[in-house]
Amino acid sequence: SVEAGSLLSVRGLTKYFGSFAACNGIDLSIAPGEIHALLGENGAGKSTLVKMLFGVLQPNAGDIVWGGSSVSIGSPGEARALGIGMVFQHFSLFEALTVAENIALSLDPRIPLAKIAEEAASLSKAYGLPLDPNSHVADLSVGERQRIEIVRALLQNPKLIILDEPTSVLTPQEADRLFETLFKLKAEGRSVLYISHRLEEVQRICDRATVLRHGKVTGACDPKQETPASLARMMVGADVAAV
Ligand code: ADP
Ligand code: MG
Repeated sequence: SVEAGSLLSVRGLTKYFGSFAACNGIDLSIAPGEIHALLGENGAGKSTLVKMLFGVLQPNAGDIVWGGSSVSIGSPGEARALGIGMVFQHFSLFEALTVAENIALSLDPRIPLAKIAEEAASLSKAYGLPLDPNSHVADLSVGERQRIEIVRALLQNPKLIILDEPTSVLTPQEADRLFETLFKLKAEGRSVLYISHRLEEVQRICDRATVLRHGKVTGACDPKQETPASLARMMVGADVAAV
C-alpha cells in the first residue's frame, strides 16, 4: 500500500536494460521534509531508479505516486513541472558559457538573462552556495559547478531535490557546506533524496535510508539507529558479517 502523507511513493518500479533488471520491483516512500538516503554499492541500481523519477528513463513496470496521484514522468521537463529537481552525478554544463547562460538553457527563453543572474545570485546567497552568475564555467572548480546545478534546481522551487553521489566530487569542506544547504532545504519542508555509498555521511545527515542491492530493496531504516556493520550487511549481503 502507498504510505499516507508521503510526498512520493514508488511501488514495484522496474527497469530492464535488455534482459537485465537494473531495478527490480522497488518500493520506496519519501515524506515531506525528509532527507532520505538511497544507499547501495556501485551497480545497485541507484542512478537508474532516480533517472526514472526525473523522467530520464521510463520504467517497464511499477507506479510512481506523487502528492497522492499516480503520475507518469515522461521527461525532465515534466519532472521539474511536478516539483522534482535533480543534481546529476555528471554535470551537463557548457564550459564557454557563463553560470547564468547555462541556467538559462533549462528555462523559458523569454526570461531575461539579467533576471536569471539576479535570482541565481540571490538563491546562491540564501542557500550558502557561493557563485558568481557572470563567471565562465571553464574557470570554475567541480564544487562550484555542482552549485550551479543545485541553484538551477532551486530556481524551479522544487518539493523534492534528488542528488546523485554529490560528495564524490567534493572536498570535505565543500561537503560540509552542502550538508548545511540540505538541512536548510529540510527546514523549509522540502524533501531530499540523497544517493550515496558512504555510510558515515548517510548516518550523519539522513532521516531514513532505503538500501538497494542488485536492483532490489534490502532494507529501509533510520540510519542513525543502525551500526555501520548492519548497514553494510544490507548493502553487500549477509556474508559480510563473517568478515
Ligand atoms: P548505481 O547508480 O547504483 O551504481 P546504476 O543504476 O548506474 O547503479 O546501474 C545499475 C546496473 O545497471 C549496473 O549493472 C549498470 O551497469 C546497469 N546499467 C545502467 N545503465 C545502463 C544502460 N543505459 N544500459 C545498460 N545497462 C545499464
Ligand atoms: Mg550511480
